[in-house]
Amino acid sequence: MSDYYSILEIERNASKDEIKRAFRKKARQLHPDVNKAPDAEEKFKELGKAYETLVDDDKRAIYDRYGEDGLQNSGYTNQGPFDFGFGGLNDIFESFFGGGFGGMGGFEDESPNAPRRGSDLRMNIKLKFEEAIFGIEKEIKIEHLEKCEMCHGTGCKNGTTPIVCPTCKGHGRIQQTTRTALGSFTQVTVCPHCNGTGQKIEQPCPKCHGVGRVETEKTIKVKIPQGVDNGAKIRISGEGDCGINGGLNGDLYLVVYVEESDKYIRDGYNIHSKVEITMPQAVLGDEVKVETLDGEKLLKIPPSTQYGKVLTLKYYGVPLLGSNNKRGDHFVQVIIKTPTQLSDEEKKLYAKLYELQSKKHVHNDSIIDKVKHVLGSGKD
Ligand SMILES: [Zn+2]
Ligand SMILES: [Zn+2]
Repeated sequence: MSDYYSILEIERNASKDEIKRAFRKKARQLHPDVNKAPDAEEKFKELGKAYETLVDDDKRAIYDRYGEDGLQNSGYTNQGPFDFGFGGLNDIFESFFGGGFGGMGGFEDESPNAPRRGSDLRMNIKLKFEEAIFGIEKEIKIEHLEKCEMCHGTGCKNGTTPIVCPTCKGHGRIQQTTRTALGSFTQVTVCPHCNGTGQKIEQPCPKCHGVGRVETEKTIKVKIPQGVDNGAKIRISGEGDCGINGGLNGDLYLVVYVEESDKYIRDGYNIHSKVEITMPQAVLGDEVKVETLDGEKLLKIPPSTQYGKVLTLKYYGVPLLGSNNKRGDHFVQVIIKTPTQLSDEEKKLYAKLYELQSKKHVHNDSIIDKVKHVLGSGKD
C-alpha cells in the first residue's frame, strides 16, 4: 500500500502549490534519466500517480475518503504518469529535461537544441450571467512558465556557460554495441546524461535550477466579448508557457462557464422569461412591465390572451458574438394568476360572471347554489 502524501513528502492538508512544488522536487530526483537506482523507474511512476491524484480536487477528495480502491471504483483508473492531459506531466518534463523524454513520444527526431514553442495552457473562467451577455473586461490571475530573468533562460549560473557533455562529447547521441551469438549490433541512442543537447550545465542558475524557465503568477486584463456562452474558448495569444531555445510562447485558452440567472433562461442568443398577469388583464388586454436585459420594458398583452402564450420582444435577446448590432429575441411566456384571496365585491363579480356564462357550460347544481348564495347575500 502506498500513501500518496508520504510519496510526495507533504502534509495531508498541503495546498495545490505545495503539491506541485513537492512533485517537481521529487521528479527531478527520481527521473529515470537522472536516477540510475534500479527502482527509480517504479518510484517515478508512483510519484506520477500520487501527483495526478492529489493535484485534482475531485480525485483527491475520493482518495482522502476511500483510498486507492475508491479511485478504481469511481472509474479513475490510474494508468500511471503517462496519461496526462493538457498542461500535464509532459509539459513539466519538457521544462525539466529539455524534452525528448524517452518513450513518451514527442521530439525524438528533432534536435533538442532547436527552438520549441511553449505549451498551450487551459484555464476555466466563471462569468456572471450578464457578464457573458454584454462582455466585460476582467483581471484574472494566471500561472505559467516564464523565461528565468536571472539567467535569461540559459539555466546557467550568472557568468558561466554550459560545458560540452563529457559522455557524448557534445554529439548528443551515443553508440552502444551489443555482442550476441549472431554478431554485434550497434545502436545509436540519445545521450542519457544531456538528453541529447550535447551540453551540460555545471553550475545551474539558483533561481530556476538549470531549467531556464520559472513558474510565474501574474495578473492580466482580459476582454470578454459580448455573447459568449458556456464552453466558449477565449485564446490569449502568447500567455501560455514560454518557448524553449528561443521558441514562441504557447497560448492560454480560457474556457467560459456562465452562472445561471434566476430571472432568465438563455438559449443560445435568445432569452426566455415569464410574466404573471391577472385574469382581467388576460381577458381585456393590457400593458405590463417586464424585466429585460436592457432594463424594464412595457409589454403589450393583447385581449383574450391564453395561458402560456409566448410573446416576443424582438431583438431584446443576447448580442451576437462578433457582431455590432445583431441580437437574439426575448420570449416572454404569459402566466395567468388565479386569484386566491378575493374581497366580497370581487367574489360577487366572479359569481355574476359565472352566472352569465353558466348557460354555455356544463355545471354542477351545488355550484349554482353557491353562486346564488354569494349574489343573494349582497342584497341583504
Ligand atoms: Zn535561471
Ligand atoms: Zn551527452
